[in-house]
Amino acid sequence: MHIKIENLNKVYPNGYYAVKNLNLEIPNGMFGLLGPNGAGKSTLMRILVTLMKPSSGKVTFDGYDLSKNRREIRSMLGYLPQDFSFFSKLKTYEFLDYTARLAGMKNGSVRRNAVDQMLEEVGLFEARDRNANKLSGGMKRRLGIAQALINDPKIIIVDEPTTGLDPEERIRFRNLLSNISTRDVVIILSTHIVGDISSTCDNMALLNRGQLAFSGSPEQLVKQA
Ligand code: ADP
Ligand code: ADP
Repeated sequence: MHIKIENLNKVYPNGYYAVKNLNLEIPNGMFGLLGPNGAGKSTLMRILVTLMKPSSGKVTFDGYDLSKNRREIRSMLGYLPQDFSFFSKLKTYEFLDYTARLAGMKNGSVRRNAVDQMLEEVGLFEARDRNANKLSGGMKRRLGIAQALINDPKIIIVDEPTTGLDPEERIRFRNLLSNISTRDVVIILSTHIVGDISSTCDNMALLNRGQLAFSGSPEQLVKQA
């Protein structure tokens, strides 16, 4: 998977350019999108997950044009938003099983296997019978990743991945993302925390006031600073 962004602009109705003349290529692996609050990260993420149309410019996913192939692109996406909650009263296992049903896994035994394997992978198998809403913040994040992964996406977008996590959970979550990145996927981490990116990402971009301030490896950014 390879994402190409060309001359992208997003102007809000009040005339503000939240994304301005952005050119960026995002290759396979972990990609960090770094920027302070207001830099335009959420705006760019919303455009990439097809929740919002850009004002102008072009985005392609492996050649699929975002303005023409929304349905194909949606089927390739896994999105983990910053704020999410789970249906109350569903157990961890039931929640993921439900997601798998929505993703079209009709065969019961195939689905049960997929769900158990995924719970194992994100380290929630022991918590499978606990109420999803009562899990710790870090466990919820991991359940969110499991949910995003269950339909085998090619692009995974994670918004502010470690907000509210304690240091141990933060490391655990970063490691989980690193393990996932060995697959043939693009993982985009949108964050204002340099540490989320420097320990995990091969490539990154720095946004400032909607414009590209840097792109390259996290090491190169540190050298420049
Ligand atoms: P980030 O996610 O990096 O914090 P955002 O994409 O949320 O940045 O916002 C970028 C800029 O665009 C901010 O200055 C924000 O206030 C502005 N903005 C976001 N949404 C709107 C909107 N609907 N109308 C006007 N300005 C907006
Ligand atoms: P985030 O940066 O996490 O996306 P924000 O608090 O910046 O969250 O934005 C929350 C919502 O308010 C978004 O839908 C955004 O588009 C909108 N918004 C943000 N800034 C503005 C603004 N200056 N004018 C109008 N809407 C805005």
